[in-house]
Amino acid sequence: MQVSQRLTNITGGGSGGWDLFNRAREMKQSGTPVTELTIGEHDTLTDPSIRDAMHRAALDGHTGYTAIGGMAELRQRIAQRAEGRTGVPTTPANVLIVPGGQAGLFAAMMATCEPGDTALFIDPYYATYPGTIRAAGAVPKPVKARSRAGFQPDAADIDAAGDAAALLINSPNNPTGAVYSDQTLADIAELCTRRDMWLISDEVYDTQVWTGDHLSPRALPGMVDRTLVVGSMSKSHAMTGSRIGWVIGPQEAIAQIANLTTHTTYGVSGFTQMAACHALDRGEAFEAQIAAPFRRRRDLVLAQIAQQNVVRAIPAQGAMYVMLDLRATGLSGEAFGNLLLDTHHIAVMPGESFGNAAAGHVRVALTVDDARLEVAIAQLLDLAAIEATKRTV
Ligand code: PMP
Repeated sequence: MQVSQRLTNITGGGSGGWDLFNRAREMKQSGTPVTELTIGEHDTLTDPSIRDAMHRAALDGHTGYTAIGGMAELRQRIAQRAEGRTGVPTTPANVLIVPGGQAGLFAAMMATCEPGDTALFIDPYYATYPGTIRAAGAVPKPVKARSRAGFQPDAADIDAAGDAAALLINSPNNPTGAVYSDQTLADIAELCTRRDMWLISDEVYDTQVWTGDHLSPRALPGMVDRTLVVGSMSKSHAMTGSRIGWVIGPQEAIAQIANLTTHTTYGVSGFTQMAACHALDRGEAFEAQIAAPFRRRRDLVLAQIAQQNVVRAIPAQGAMYVMLDLRATGLSGEAFGNLLLDTHHIAVMPGESFGNAAAGHVRVALTVDDARLEVAIAQLLDLAAIEATKRTV
C-alpha cells in the first residue's frame, strides 16, 4: 500500500543537512568522542525543582485528559506573561496550549492558509519550516535574507515575493542569531497590513536576546488581529522534552485552532502543564539563569573570531547559536562541516541545511561547556585558516 503524497511530500526530498548530524551520532555510538555543536538543546537537564513539580503533579493525579485548549492555570500564566512582556491586553482566551512550539507552528499554518496558498518565510530558516508549511497543505516560498546584512530580512524583498496568505518570521532567529530590529519589524508590520497577510511570529527564543530588546510584532499598531505568536517552554526553561508550547492570537482564531487540536492532539498531559506553571512561577530571574550560559559562550566565541580574519561571525544578537561565514575557505558549509568532523571530531550544522542564503556558512550551537567550546572553536578556526591558505597558493 502506498502512503499518501501529502505525507511523502512533506520533507521535499534531500537530507536537509542531517547527513552530517547522523554521521556524528554514528561516530559517537561507535565510541569516538565527538563535540556536538549541532542541535539546540541545553547541556543541562530540566531543573530539579521543575522535575519535582512534575513528579508531584503526577502523584497528585494529574494523569487524565485535560481541557483541550490547555489547563486554565497555564493559559492564565502565559496570558499574563505575554501581556507583561508586550503591553498587549491578553486573556486566556487568546492563548492555546499545544504540545510544543512545533505543534504551534503547524496549527498556525493550518489557521492562516487555505490549501494551495503560499506561505512566505525567511531564508535562512529553521529546518522544519518548509515541511511544516507543506504538511498544512500550503506552498512554502523562501525569501532570502543577506549574510552581509546580518541576515536581517528586507521588507522590500518580502514584498517582491508575490501573493501570500501568511508570512512566518522568527526573531531571535535560529539559525542566524539575528534579532530583528524595530525598523525591520515595523516594515514587516506595514507590509502585512497593506497586503492583508497573516503574520506568524515564532518567538521561542524570546528570552535569549543579547543585544537590544525583544519586540513582539503583535504589539505593533494594527497587528494584534493579524498576528499569531508561537511560543514554547523548550528553550526558555530548558524543557525540550516536556512538549509545552502555545499559540497566542485573536480569540476567534484561537477557538478555531482549539477545534483543530480536538481532532489531532486532544490536549497536553496535565503533569507537564503543572510543571510548566511551576517553572513560570520562578519568574524572569530563572529565565535569565537558563539563558546565561549561551550569552557567556556567545561572547567567548565572538572574542575568538575577532582574533583572526578568515572566518566572519554573523553578529549573534540572540538565541543559542553563532552562524559563521566560511566562504573565504572556498568550501561549502557541508564540505567544511564534513572535514571538521573527520579531522577534529567536531560536528556543526552546514548552513545549506537552513536554505540557500546560508551556503558557505556553518551554524555552531553553543551547547557544550565553555572550555570544550573554546577548544572546538580554536580547532575550527585553524582548519579554516589552513583551507583558506590552500585556496590562495
Ligand atoms: N521554532 C524554532 C525556531 C526552533 O528552533 C524550535 C526548536 N529547535 C522550535 C520552533 C520548536 O521547538 P519546540 O517544539 O521544542 O517548542
